[in-house]
This record gives sequence, C-alpha cells and structure tokens, in this order.
Amino acid sequence: MGTAASSFLNPIAAERVDLSSTLSPKTLARRAKQRRQIQGMIAVSYLVDALVLLIYARADTIPLSVGPAYAATGLSSVLLYTMLSELGFNDRFKDHYMVAQQSTASMAIMIAFAYVVPEAGVMFLCTLFTVFAFSSLRSTPRQTATIWIAMSLGLAGLFLLTDKPMSMPHGNYLERMATMLVFILTIGRCMFIGIFSSALKQSLYQSGLKLKEAYKRIEELAELDELTGSFNRRSIMRMLGEEIDRARRNGAPCSIALIDLDWFKRINDAFGHPTGDEVLRTFAITVFANVRPVDRFGRYGGEEFLLVLPDASQDGACRMLDRLRAIIADLDWSAFAPSMRVTISAGVATLRPDEGPDTFLARADSALYAAKARGRDRIAYA
Ligand code: GH3
Ligand code: MG
Ligand code: MG
Repeated sequence: MGTAASSFLNPIAAERVDLSSTLSPKTLARRAKQRRQIQGMIAVSYLVDALVLLIYARADTIPLSVGPAYAATGLSSVLLYTMLSELGFNDRFKDHYMVAQQSTASMAIMIAFAYVVPEAGVMFLCTLFTVFAFSSLRSTPRQTATIWIAMSLGLAGLFLLTDKPMSMPHGNYLERMATMLVFILTIGRCMFIGIFSSALKQSLYQSGLKLKEAYKRIEELAELDELTGSFNRRSIMRMLGEEIDRARRNGAPCSIALIDLDWFKRINDAFGHPTGDEVLRTFAITVFANVRPVDRFGRYGGEEFLLVLPDASQDGACRMLDRLRAIIADLDWSAFAPSMRVTISAGVATLRPDEGPDTFLARADSALYAAKARGRDRIAYA
C-alpha cells in the first residue's frame, strides 16, 4: 500500500485542524503529492466508467454522447479539486483530502446522470454506492451521516418524484457484457476498499506498537540516569520511601549505603572529564554485577550514589559494602590509564523505628563523612 493510501487512511490526520501555517513546506509538498495520487485514481475511475458507457452506447442502450459527457463532468470535478489542492486551499481543512466535499460532488454527479440517463441507471447507482463506501473510510461519523442523508434525499427525488424506470440493461450480448463489467468493477472497488481498510488496521497496529515502545523508552529515560544507567535521584528517592514503608509493614530490616568515589576530582583533573565519565560508568556496572536483584541503586548526585538494601541488617549491609569496596579497589583500571586507582568510601545506616527518609539519609551521610575522615577506601557505620 503506497504512502498516499496509508496517509489517506490516517484517522489522526482526519482530526487535524488547519495546519497550513504550521506545517513545514516539505510536509505541505508531501501532502499535495498524496492528493495528486488520489485525484489520479479518481480520474481513472471516471474514465473506466466512461468506457463502460461507450459499450452501452454501442449496444444502442444510451446515446453515444453520454460516455464523453460523463468523462468530461467527472474529470472537470477532478480538475477543480486538483486546482484547489495545488493552490493550497485543501490545507485549510481538517481533512486536507476534502473527501466529504468531493464525494458529495461525485454523488451529485451520479444522481444527475441517473436522472438524465436512467437507461444505464445501474452503473450510476453502483458507482454512487462505492463512492459513499470510499468516503466513509476517511470521513468522521458525523460527515458520513450527513452525506448519507443528502444521498438519501437525492435518491428519493430520483425514485419517488419521477417515474423513470432505472434500468439494468441485459437485452443483448453487449448490454450483458457492459452490465457484467459494472458489477465486476463495483465488486473490484469493494475489494479495493477492503484492502484499504486492512491497510488501516495494519498501520494502526504498527503505530500502536511504536507508541508503546516510545512510551516505554520515555519512562526509562525519566527513571534512569543517562550516564550510568542507574536510577536517577528522583526515582531512587521514591524507591527509598517505598522500601522504608515496606520494611515497616513487614517488620523487616532495611539498610542503605551512600557511596562516594574517592578523590574523584583528581581523576578528572589527571585523566580528563570523559575518562571520569567512563570510570563512573564502570563503577555503576560493577555495582550492578555485585548486588542482589532486590537492591536498588541510583545516582544521588555527581559521584555519589545511593544503594538501598531491603531486608539487609547492619551486619549484612556492612559485609556487602565492604565486599563491593574491595572489588572496586582490586579492579584493573589500567585500561583507562596505567597509573589509575579508584576506591570508594561508603556510609552505611540501618533503618530505626519511626525514622523518616531524611534522618535515615543524614545518618548515612555522616557515616560517609566519617569514612572519608578516617582515610577513605573504607566503610563506616552510622
Ligand atoms: P572525596 O574523596 O572527598 O570525595 O574527593 P572528591 O574529589 O571525590 O570530591 P569532590 O566533591 O571535591 O569532587 C567531586 C568531583 O566529581 C567534582 C566533579 O567535577 C566530579 N563529577 C561530578 N559529576 C561528574 C560527572 O558526571 N562526570 C565526571 N567526569 N565528573 C563528575
Ligand atoms: Mg568523591
Ligand atoms: Mg562527592
């Protein structure tokens, strides 16, 4: 299905308001091209119907002039809409294809021809039917209902206010052939409408998937720190609150650790800020690889991180942090720079009854301060 078809079926586009002043010239040009393709299809459709009318004329069912007159009328309407489209008039409408307007005009043409040439009534009525079905693909329910009412009034005028016999000619071989073509064309157009609407379903499904993915990505971006992939400050603070509540409810212990990289300013100064970033990333990956799935690790700010350890007692948390400290200190950092050494200090605290996140964090922070004061590369307990 081409871009014109999928864009024609885009229901979001149908809801758009006048965007002519806000759309970029490139988008306006793309929309104009899509409209040209649709107008081309409509023109071909009129010409095919005119050929069938020529067969009826050959069978002496209708005058020879009907086919050319029908083609001329149809093509004039196509020309008019193409001109409006090229002048950018369509971009003023919610639906830049102006489907409701053009299909109403087409249906008026069908009813007028059915009135003037009832001998080939079947063809105009069948085309009327497919134009309506095609227009309802793109129109709003309100527009479709309005068009249906207008079309019903036209048909009432045709069938009730005149006594013209609407014919389905089949008296001789040529007539049978032309009428057969009318039905084949009608069914073919129904098939086309079916293909169009399944393309719509498919493109809606695809957009749904893309939207879901984008939404997931937005949620991730809003939760994660871009540099380290750990939780950002906002989400780690939220998780800290949740874990405190959970520990209260379950009567379980909960510990936290504020971890700070030692002499990090010197690392930046000696090896450059980009290397400093790499060190932060490697540190975060190492932490991820050495904590339990239930632990929550987030960037508290700069080179300071918060590790929330649910169900961890004082002893458990201190042991875990000391193990992490040793792993970082023993890591081979020579890939960054031959002389590089990286160590961490951490302040560990275990939740006290009736303690809120602020005092809990403040205790961990003073323990971290103590660890730094005692010479770094160590863990202190609050
Ligand atoms: P201490 O052992 O007392 O913690 O010393 P320190 O040098 O680590 O502490 P200080 O607070 O003086 O310096 C922290 C440095 O961390 C300063 C800042 O430029 C650097 N830093 C903070 N965020 C980033 C970051 O995202 N990338 C890099 N490369 N550096 C960062
Ligand atoms: Mg530091
Ligand atoms: Mg710091």
